[in-house]
Amino acid sequence: MIPNLNWTEAAGAVDAASAILIVTHVSPDGDAIGSLLGLGNALVERGKRPDLAVDGGVPDYLRFLPGADAVIDTLPAKTWDVMISVDASDETRTGRVGEVGRANSQLVINLDHHATNTGFGQIHLVDPAAVSASEVIARWLTAIEQPITPAIAQPLLTGLVTDTIGFRTSSVRPETLDLARLLMAAGASLQTIMARTLNSKPYKALMLWRSAMQHIALEDGIISSDIPLADLHAAGYDEPTDADFVNLLIQVDEAVIAAVFKETLDNAVELSLRSKLGYDVGAVAFALGGGGHRQAAGATVSGTLAEVRERVMPLLRAAVEQGKSVNPSCSVF
Ligand code: AMP
Ligand code: MN
Ligand code: MN
Repeated sequence: MIPNLNWTEAAGAVDAASAILIVTHVSPDGDAIGSLLGLGNALVERGKRPDLAVDGGVPDYLRFLPGADAVIDTLPAKTWDVMISVDASDETRTGRVGEVGRANSQLVINLDHHATNTGFGQIHLVDPAAVSASEVIARWLTAIEQPITPAIAQPLLTGLVTDTIGFRTSSVRPETLDLARLLMAAGASLQTIMARTLNSKPYKALMLWRSAMQHIALEDGIISSDIPLADLHAAGYDEPTDADFVNLLIQVDEAVIAAVFKETLDNAVELSLRSKLGYDVGAVAFALGGGGHRQAAGATVSGTLAEVRERVMPLLRAAVEQGKSVNPSCSVF
C-alpha cells in the first residue's frame, strides 16, 4: 500500500468539527491506548472536547496515562462530525464503540500503521512503515506545527515503546529513536513507561505461562502452544490472552514462526502470530480474516482448538517455505 498521509486535509476536518469521537481496537494494547490518549489530549489542546472510547475501557496497567479516566466503554446517544479510528486495521476491530460511532458520524479518519489496513474511512493517515500508530500521530502533530505537551508525549511514547517491545523489533529505524528523543524531551518519562508496561507482569501471567509451557511443540520451524479456556480460567483470567507468551516463543533459535492458539467462549480461537525477519505472518493472518504486520499478526478463527490448528498449521508451513525460498539466508533451522 502506498502511504497516503493527508495531514492538512485531516487537520482541516478536525478543526471544522465541533463533535469528535476517537476509537481504537478491542483488547487494546499500549499503542491503542497511547494513540487514543495522545491524540485525545492533543485535540483538547486544540480547543476540542473529544469523546474517547474503547470496548471494555482502559486496561488497569495503562491507567497511569494522562486522560485515562475520561475514556468511556459505551457510547452515549449522540452524533459526531468526525470519528477517528486509531491503530485498527479494519472496521470490525473497533468493536461495538466503532460500530455505533460509524453509524452516528459524518466522516471517518483512518489513522493506522498496519500493512493489512483495509483502507476504510474517507481520510487516510496510514503508514505501514511507522512502528506504531502513535508515531503517525506524532508526525501529524509535527506536520501541523502543534506543540507536544507532556500529556501528549507520555501516551505517544508508550505506543512507540510497547509496539517495538522496547525498540527490539525489526521495524525500528533511526527515525524511531529520533522520535523517542523528541517525546522524552517534551516531558515523557521512559522510566515510568518501562516500569508500567514492559517491566511489569501480574503473577497470574506466570501461572498462564506455566500451563502454556506444557503445550509447547516445535515442528518445521514453527513453535506453537495452546491456551484452553480451562487453563485461562485456572490462571485467573476472564478474557482470552497469552500474556505475551508468543513474544517469548519467537525468541527460540530453532523457530522462525511462533503461534499461540487461545480458545474463546464462543467456539472460536484467537491466534497470535510472530515471525523472524524474512517470514510473513501478516499475510497468513489476513487470509484468515485478521491482520497485523509481517512480524506480528493475529486473527480470530471459528472452530475448536483442534479444528483451527488443522486449518492454520498448513498455512504457517507454507509461510516458512515461502520465506526460505525468497531469502535462503534467513533460515535459521
Ligand atoms: P497480538 O498477538 O494480539 O499482540 O497482535 C499482534 C498484531 O496483530 C497487532 O498488530 C494486532 O493489531 C494484530 N491483530 C491481532 N489480532 C487481530 C485480529 N483479530 N484482527 C486484526 N489484527 C489483529
Ligand atoms: Mn495495537
Ligand atoms: Mn500499533
